[in-house]
Amino acid sequence: MAQRMGGMPLIVLSEESQRTSGRDAQSMNITAGQAVAEAVRTTLGPKGMDKMLVDSGGDVIVTNDGVTILKDMDIDHPAANMIVDVAETQEDEVADGTTTAVVITGELLKRAEDLLDQDIHATTLTQGFRQAAAEVESILEENAIEVSTDDEEILLDIAGTAMTGKGAEGAKEILARLVVDAVTAIADDDGINLDHIKIRTDTGASINESELIDGVIVGKGRVNQNMPTLVEDAKIALIESALEFEDTEVSAEVNVTDPTQLEELVEKEKSIMREQVETIAEAGADVVLVKGAIMDYAQHHLAQHGILAVRRVTQGDLRKVARATGATLVHDISSLTEDDLGYAGRVEERVMDDEEQIIVEEVEDGKAVSLYLRGGTEHVVDEVERAVIDSMGVVKVTLEDGLVLPGGGAPETELAMRLRDFAEGVGGREQLAVEAFADSLEVIPRTLAENAGHDPIDSLVELRSTHDDGQFAAGLDAYTGRVVDMTEEGVFEPLRVKTQAIESATDAAVMILRIDDVIAAGDLRAERDEDDPTGETPSPAGGF
Ligand code: ADP
Ligand code: MG
Repeated sequence: MAQRMGGMPLIVLSEESQRTSGRDAQSMNITAGQAVAEAVRTTLGPKGMDKMLVDSGGDVIVTNDGVTILKDMDIDHPAANMIVDVAETQEDEVADGTTTAVVITGELLKRAEDLLDQDIHATTLTQGFRQAAAEVESILEENAIEVSTDDEEILLDIAGTAMTGKGAEGAKEILARLVVDAVTAIADDDGINLDHIKIRTDTGASINESELIDGVIVGKGRVNQNMPTLVEDAKIALIESALEFEDTEVSAEVNVTDPTQLEELVEKEKSIMREQVETIAEAGADVVLVKGAIMDYAQHHLAQHGILAVRRVTQGDLRKVARATGATLVHDISSLTEDDLGYAGRVEERVMDDEEQIIVEEVEDGKAVSLYLRGGTEHVVDEVERAVIDSMGVVKVTLEDGLVLPGGGAPETELAMRLRDFAEGVGGREQLAVEAFADSLEVIPRTLAENAGHDPIDSLVELRSTHDDGQFAAGLDAYTGRVVDMTEEGVFEPLRVKTQAIESATDAAVMILRIDDVIAAGDLRAERDEDDPTGETPSPAGGF
């Protein structure tokens, strides 16, 4: 309820509401944001540690992936959630760089707090941050390395860099090769749609046994044991309907009044089924994938024709097979002709993850592929999958943009140096904000050093002086702690991962810093308490 009194709005809050204003509100939000960043900081880089997340049901995830950690943590502070959003945006846009984005946000907030303490106004700060962020973009673009899309070596390096530090690292080379082959295989004139890569995971074998299948793993086995398990030179029909009668079709039209009529009905159904199977066989299909059910009678006839049939195939899988084999999806079986069929060199049933799976491979233009990822245990293979997804994302971005940067803290060190120069020209109090921004970016090389057990001060000093000598690509070799040329080490990241990370970190920090009034209906944990069936857990004020 608000009413105007003497020109000032008077806001009357209910008794349960909480209001925190001014510096207190800023401080509270900054602390919450920093706490989130602190939670993922130790996972950054090749020597970052993993987190074990245990949910209320006792399920365990072991991961090094920033966004996975944040999504699964039970975070219930609004400002902290803004930082989780940063990670999610980063993940959606470019797949990789989530920890980097969050760690930079936390550091920007921390440095901002120091300046707020020195009575620098939040608006001055956010303006300075914005200027710095704009400058960052132009410095990075100016220094990005152009990569041609057929430069395999750099693509492999990019794919590998995105996987370092994750459980997949032991098999980095093999997995990087699979990822690059998979992403390049599905690229076409319309661009790169990673949905065309199907990932299937399975335990009980080493990561090294993961493979790329140039085709589609259909998540089902054949419908009948009398059908072949292997068809070579397969002609494939894709049926979007079913080989079965639903109640609404034939049966509903007939009112059965005596046993002979029932028999007639069954005969009629059978003859329709026979006709449909004949149509499929006459079209020349020896594999048929059906979206709906296949009744026993039809199964039997298909088997007699030596046709391998699969039922209840998902629409997504039907589309993938269509894309891979050139088949057309057909709804009305009676209209099926040879022209609708697709081709695959091999269709085979294999057991994966204890389930029979039909694999459609050796396809003509290979525009849909599958990655079959292996690992000793569920935890391992899940983390391999997360690493592979990040890796697919960076290869896609690289193929799209053709611009990369050296990793290992090289760009952040360079940016910090160049921003300090830039700050001198900014003048006024904004200069302090630009300098704070520069200092914040160095949290990346500092953390990489710390996580690898090296002295962060020594590392930073050496990095700065090497960059001062004009070596843009100088970064931290996390294994030896030495400062080396990252392009020689093959540590590359797409330009877009870095620009996006810094951009979203800036946006989040600015958004949080601009808030000077937090008005919460109920208390700040109200959202969570709504889920509390007892409704009787009053939380401490603003508790994070
Ligand atoms: P994010 O979620 O931000 O991608 P990561 O844990 O994947 O976090 O760490 C990414 C950082 O690790 C980047 O700064 C990247 O350049 C760096 N990095 C990756 N591989 C290496 C390496 N071999 N040597 C040094 N730094 C590396
Ligand atoms: Mg990464």
